[in-house]
Amino acid sequence: MPDRYFVTPPVDAARAVLRGDEAHHLAKVMRVKPGDEIIVFDGGGCEWLARVAAVQRGEIALELLEQREMDREQGVAVTLAVALPKSERQRWLVEKSVELGVQRLVPLITDRGVAQPVDNALSRLRRTVVEASKQCGRNRLMEIAAPQPWTGFCAAVAVLGDRRVMADPSGSEDVGNLLDGWRTSRLASSLVFAVGPEGGWTEGERHSAASHGWQMVSLGPRILRVETAALLLASIAASAVIGFNDPKP
Ligand code: SAM
Repeated sequence: MPDRYFVTPPVDAARAVLRGDEAHHLAKVMRVKPGDEIIVFDGGGCEWLARVAAVQRGEIALELLEQREMDREQGVAVTLAVALPKSERQRWLVEKSVELGVQRLVPLITDRGVAQPVDNALSRLRRTVVEASKQCGRNRLMEIAAPQPWTGFCAAVAVLGDRRVMADPSGSEDVGNLLDGWRTSRLASSLVFAVGPEGGWTEGERHSAASHGWQMVSLGPRILRVETAALLLASIAASAVIGFNDPKP
């Protein structure tokens, strides 16, 4: 896949300007010149073949040559609601979630949670989303929502009627059975997974989930780190849809 660059929307039909990190990378690392061709995407689903028109200080002016319909989203909208782990593990989780096609990541505020991303951290994570999307070819950015308290979130999702799954080592449902069920029913159009903090869910949090119709699922006999559990769920959802409703690369 050729080098891809993120252009902040809205994008004019004929022209775009790259600024900030993207312009710096193209000018100083890739050393583009007027006339060179690159791919740009707007994070909202569109990508273009573009020609560099001018390289200026801090800015690269582009002429948009051709808009391409290239949807690399999977056919089911996956939300991962996670009591985020700390620092580098948080960044890793975000990067891999983008690659696995997760549509939305919701940082959860839980009773035993440790790391609540504040504004700066959320901006860094959103930058990671852009970088991962450039690399894996996604044209739609995974949303990183504002942190939400578990109780409010678990009730709100129930009202929307999405299929909802809480990962918990004491869960009675086995994730393998769930996967078989999804394969035969060809899945729901939206799935919401919740993964608790390193210290686990409290009884109160489990009770809220159960009373709002969440399915409590075990991921097997070993205790997984938060990010492993989250990515296992995202992989299961991706593997259940790959092959019949994913667009071809
Ligand atoms: N001692 C904690 C407990 O028993 O819940 C371990 C928490 S685990 C490190 C962090 C989160 O990952 C859990 O709250 C759960 O959402 C998910 N998780 C990890 N291993 C799991 C498993 N085997 N089955 C289901 N969920 C799991």
